[in-house]
Amino acid sequence: MAQMTDPVTSQPVFRFAPSPNGYLHVGHAYSALFNAKLAREMGGRLLLRIEDIDPVRSRPEYIAAIYEDLAWLGLEWEEPVRRQSEHLSDYALALERLAARDLVYPCFCSRADVAAAVGGRSDWPRDPDGAPFYPGVCKHLSDQDKQRRLASGQHAALRLDMQAAIAQAQDLIGWCEFFEGAEPRDVNAEPSLWGDVVVGRKDVPTSYHLAVVIDDALQGVTDVARGMDLFNATSLHRLLQTLLDLPAPRYRHHRLIKDDDGRKLAKSSASTPLRTLRAEGVSAQQVRERLGFA
Ligand code: GLU
Repeated sequence: MAQMTDPVTSQPVFRFAPSPNGYLHVGHAYSALFNAKLAREMGGRLLLRIEDIDPVRSRPEYIAAIYEDLAWLGLEWEEPVRRQSEHLSDYALALERLAARDLVYPCFCSRADVAAAVGGRSDWPRDPDGAPFYPGVCKHLSDQDKQRRLASGQHAALRLDMQAAIAQAQDLIGWCEFFEGAEPRDVNAEPSLWGDVVVGRKDVPTSYHLAVVIDDALQGVTDVARGMDLFNATSLHRLLQTLLDLPAPRYRHHRLIKDDDGRKLAKSSASTPLRTLRAEGVSAQQVRERLGFA
């Protein structure tokens, strides 16, 4: 299998990458503390990246709260803070590169259109986020049709042609996974789990998946440490990295904080905001201890 356990010989670069669409909660604290601990132990750098591509859900007060909550937890990160909204042209360029290789196509469908095309079939395959596989409605539009719709001002998302993408990536793709331990394991990527996933949204010229892959490369991230909820996303990220000739970071998908872990902190749950705990008189030290980072 190609290049999975190549040792990264440079100084490790970690990142904590919250989306500012809500307040940080106990689960985020685990992820941030996990990254900080690894960076410290490995003599690495820790970046903070604000994943603010969503123009509707991202709010300045949540960004301010991220700084405040992380500082309260006792964390330090490298300046400047990275912002995804500052890299929209990099994402657009990546989409152009995928388009030049005929790997994306415009899709005019709304979620309701997709649901209607799937026709409520309960056996219809779904991606790891639970979205129905794209049934291909716009995949076979004629060039003329596409141009006419674009010219009339209809917005289109860009979808990855998964079959073509996998064929072009050729090599069996995998990654080097540590989970929370010290021993690397080789994992085979299964990007087909995602079907013809959206890589460029109708409202912004990127998607979570594309932006993360471009940023990790731009910022020299060598080690991606994030929750197990993103384990399957890594299959897609490795495919995009391969198609765009970007290096493969090492991955450490950590456990997800269960409600119980949080509840022991002042009767709250894993999704209780850190600032709520703070207001209830819980100290940062108590949070760190409860999460195993005393
Ligand atoms: N922004 C993502 C989130 O808040 C995390 C992205 C990542 O770590 O790759 O869930």
